[in-house]
Amino acid sequence: MKNDELFLIGEMNAHQIKKKVNDKTVAVLIFGSCENHGDHLPFGSDFIFPFELAKRVAVKIQNLIILPPIPYGVSSHHKKFYMTISIGTNTLISLIENLLESVYNNGVHKILIINGHDGNIAPIEIAARNTKDRYPNITIACLESWWELIGKISPDTFNVWDGLGHGGEAETSAMMTISPDLVNKNNIPEDTIPNLPKHIRIFWTMDELTKTGATGSPNNGSVKKGDVICRILEDILISFLLDMENNRWKYGLCL
Ligand SMILES: [Zn+2]
Repeated sequence: MKNDELFLIGEMNAHQIKKKVNDKTVAVLIFGSCENHGDHLPFGSDFIFPFELAKRVAVKIQNLIILPPIPYGVSSHHKKFYMTISIGTNTLISLIENLLESVYNNGVHKILIINGHDGNIAPIEIAARNTKDRYPNITIACLESWWELIGKISPDTFNVWDGLGHGGEAETSAMMTISPDLVNKNNIPEDTIPNLPKHIRIFWTMDELTKTGATGSPNNGSVKKGDVICRILEDILISFLLDMENNRWKYGLCL
């Protein structure tokens, strides 16, 4: 493999990493979870999809290195479902800070986080702000909730609830596209659209919303929709990275 095609640091040796990393390098960090996603999707869905997305982007954009994805997250709101493996909020904040600091101390000051799980959003923000406070010249960017973004950008792609839902229309479609063998079509649970207020957030637990572990409309999932999701998210990430590179990773008043 040519050096340009190497980007998974977990699979590279010291010589390859030294050749690959320079002051243009962007490190990609992926955070997922290990939890029930209905009877049809794998427990690792929340890191499997962002990891695949990152790999698709890294094939097209040079200068990326992808760290091994973190397969656990804050899933206390899923704990009533069997075999949810959750880590504490403070544990995750510390873990993220440790990873950001390690990357920074190795001379890589540009970091892109791709998050796959709602429970990780707040810890990512706290860890990123603490790290930015400590190292002002670090840049930390984050695609924090692709499952919400995609319905806002392309509502026409989805039939129900803008594609939302845990193991719902968008998540099921995405997995059908990137890893069809991991989708058990015979076990797709019934659609469950939870009754929730429109503009005010309730900090629910998953068992308050669904009996199956899935919400939304997994029955409306399709490869076609998954292809659209992948294309849109890849485009968003690629244009972000190209724009940042063009601006030498400056933004705001520094531009
Ligand atoms: Zn999740």
